[in-house]
Amino acid sequence: MKITLTANKKVKPDFSKLGFGKYFTDHMLVMDYKDGAWQEPEIIPYGPFQMDPSTCVLHYGQGIFEGLKAYKDANGKITMFRPYDNFKRMNRSATRLCMPELDVDKVVEALKELVLVDQDWIPTEPGTALYIRPTMIAYDAMLGVHPAHNYKFFIILSPVGSYYASGMKPTKIMVEDKYVRAPLGGTGEAKCMGNYATSLLAGDIANKKGYEQVLWLDAQEKKYIEEVGAMNMFFVFDGVVKTPELVGSILPGITRDSVIKLLKYYGKPVEETRVSLDEIQENIEKGTFNEAFGSGTAAVISPVGTLNIHGEDVIINGGEMGEITSFLYDRLTGIQYGRYEDPFGWIVRVN
Ligand SMILES: *Cc1c(COP(=O)(O)O)cnc(C)c1O
Repeated sequence: MKITLTANKKVKPDFSKLGFGKYFTDHMLVMDYKDGAWQEPEIIPYGPFQMDPSTCVLHYGQGIFEGLKAYKDANGKITMFRPYDNFKRMNRSATRLCMPELDVDKVVEALKELVLVDQDWIPTEPGTALYIRPTMIAYDAMLGVHPAHNYKFFIILSPVGSYYASGMKPTKIMVEDKYVRAPLGGTGEAKCMGNYATSLLAGDIANKKGYEQVLWLDAQEKKYIEEVGAMNMFFVFDGVVKTPELVGSILPGITRDSVIKLLKYYGKPVEETRVSLDEIQENIEKGTFNEAFGSGTAAVISPVGTLNIHGEDVIINGGEMGEITSFLYDRLTGIQYGRYEDPFGWIVRVN
């Protein structure tokens, strides 16, 4: 692979105050699709693209992305969490958006090279990681609505902080009654840019009311739980963990899949099923609504302390993180950071 190193390395930020997605490393990977084929990937200095103002993605949103993390331990061993699954999902998103598929093995190998080139940027403080953002955009410069013939794939890297700077703080979430995220047959299960654009208004309204995120309901009946912003949802009712089944409008999270596999591995009851607002209400009334949490790459496991349903706040587990939630957080981050054995083959070594 062609690698062009930068002559101007950036000054690194304070790794104890990273936040999320604010800093980018010195290099990036780019690969163009033209004449019906992916060209060779290249590593080049991080920097802006020159784009024609008519470039398709800017007008019609034909673009998809992924998110995963790399970790470095005290001995300098670098690993990634389930990267093959991310690029397999990217290929499913690509198919839905009429975009070309990637060679998964080749892209993972190229990504390893990129991570090695910028390995000094991988933070090692507890809870920090190198966030990896692969993206694919339609690159034709013309305004007719059509699947593009040219695409640009790129990967950028961002050192990110612990999501829980002040300890694990349970979030406040509002059930969204008016707007919907994705109808059946839509793009809900693809990680595409447009899904986020259309979710911003509801999120903004919820923020102004003091809630961090919205909990989306199904678009047809507004009865069933789908997911939260960039996280899948789990509920614990009377000791049984339930998560909405993947009906087609829900993003199939890799963290979600990891949580289900971990629960099964430890013999804990878990069901992929429809979860209705009625079932939540029933469990509130019976006092059996034990816990709720979200799962996603950025936060890993995020406890929900308050759920606003039709204007009423429900406090879950006294607003504290529950037992199953903290067990899962410990197990999953333990595997990711190498504190625990990985019986699942999720950890991929980079060096
Ligand atoms: C990426 C994403 C998730 C979480 O997926 P992970 O693979 O666990 O990071 C959940 N919901 C949406 C809408 C997403 O875009």
